[in-house]
Amino acid sequence: MELETILQKHFGYHSFKTGQKEVISSILSGKHTLAMLPTGTGKSLCYQLPGHILKGQILIISPLLSLMQDQVEQFKQFGEKRVIALNSFLSPTERKNVLSHLKEYKFIFISPEMLRVPFIMRILQQLTISLFVVDEAHCISQWGYDFRPDYSKLGNIREKLGNPLTLALTATATRKVHEDIIASLGLEEIVKIESSTDRPNIAFYVEKLTDYHDKQNRITDLVSRLQKPGIIYFSSKKAAEQMAALLDEKGICQAMAYHGGLDQNTRILIQQQFIYDQLDVICATSAFGMGINKKNIRFVIHYHMPMQIESYLQEIGRAGRDGKPSVAILLYSPGDEQLPIQLAEGELPSEQQIDWLFEKAKNEQLLRDNRIELSYQLRDLGGFSKIQWRIIEDFVMNQPLDVRSAEMLKLTIKEFVKERLGVKIQNIFQMKKWVESIMCRREFILRYFDEVMLKKVPSCCDLCGLELNDYLCNEKTPIFKKSEEKWKDYLAKILINSELSE
Ligand code: ADP
Repeated sequence: MELETILQKHFGYHSFKTGQKEVISSILSGKHTLAMLPTGTGKSLCYQLPGHILKGQILIISPLLSLMQDQVEQFKQFGEKRVIALNSFLSPTERKNVLSHLKEYKFIFISPEMLRVPFIMRILQQLTISLFVVDEAHCISQWGYDFRPDYSKLGNIREKLGNPLTLALTATATRKVHEDIIASLGLEEIVKIESSTDRPNIAFYVEKLTDYHDKQNRITDLVSRLQKPGIIYFSSKKAAEQMAALLDEKGICQAMAYHGGLDQNTRILIQQQFIYDQLDVICATSAFGMGINKKNIRFVIHYHMPMQIESYLQEIGRAGRDGKPSVAILLYSPGDEQLPIQLAEGELPSEQQIDWLFEKAKNEQLLRDNRIELSYQLRDLGGFSKIQWRIIEDFVMNQPLDVRSAEMLKLTIKEFVKERLGVKIQNIFQMKKWVESIMCRREFILRYFDEVMLKKVPSCCDLCGLELNDYLCNEKTPIFKKSEEKWKDYLAKILINSELSE
């Protein structure tokens, strides 16, 4: 059967999006494939469709629980019931049940943490995995913007599963990251399918302002005039909330804040209101966006500078999925790089915390040669955040073979932290360089990804003479639509589904 026929039959689409057919054909011809396709271009289809052809199971490693849930939902929309997400959302009973029937599922999503569990690995080893998919594969690389220590063990996991056919998917990765992905997964021969990171319908605009106060005023001005809907990204929950309240109070638009501090149901509610045009603007932290597929977002404003070009591209990539002109505005004021530097430092355990941990472990006799008996109590007492603790745990549980004493382990962790911080700071300064660039902003980004700009786009960036006029609305009325019932129905459905699965 022709691929187009399968596409139409199972997914109802008439044609492939850029890159999809090449990736699918490569997989079906039995070649390991690394696909770099921009966000929103339909990467999921690259394993969904082969699943209808390949015998055996498709194992998909995905780093984000929320993303996994969205992807499972997507499958269900296409009528595919043989799909399961093996993650911490499952209760122990559910997990036991699922694991005893794992053979009956065609598509298995799994978090890298779950792959650490020997019992789960043994069950996976009994399956016939026809495709091993690594979603967000840039997480494998130390140089990737979202390095996950768990991801770097995937080569080993793949080997234990008999080196199955592999598909690595990412939206944004530099050459260096590509090389790391290939080496780390142990792929000798690989087909690389890359489409440009460029999104020609998104224009870039950087504005330099004096301070945060100035930024706030500028945002209220911009939001009142720009075509909506839009997203404003912040690096702080508080700033996101303040701005949403301000926009609402001043009657500028219907705005809500969205961040990781809100409970799950509130987040779903806000997301749905935005998707169904009940809200004009979301004031969000980076917690918002993954898996959100709203096509008509007209602007993305950054109030704070992101930590690297890759995440900036991911975030602005949520604009203009309908192909219509959209704008990405970044507001910069002197010293803005300090906040991302602080955040980068906060993501890693500090020297003092590491020293404290080893000292405490020694005093409490929790040290056995080169091992520490870790506990949540130690984590809380040492003031480690979840993300900092993950690094400690990873080193303690998966120590490099040449680490033979506690002292060596301590030094290895410190060394890792230092190196990682160096990479993060380098990335922040790269982002700053882009802000201060005097050359075309699009060209700068393309070069960063080792691409060449072949054609100049008409609405390019402020440095190419872009004016914001084209992105302003004709009338001041917000695009508030009365489609309340629609999202309420949707929300009720989600809640019922989640109750059923409990
Ligand atoms: P990504 O992971 O690349 O961000 P997704 O896989 O979530 O993107 O897909 C983005 C959207 O594109 C989804 O709504 C999906 O259903 C849609 N899509 C995927 N492939 C096609 C296609 N060939 N034609 C039309 N829409 C598609």
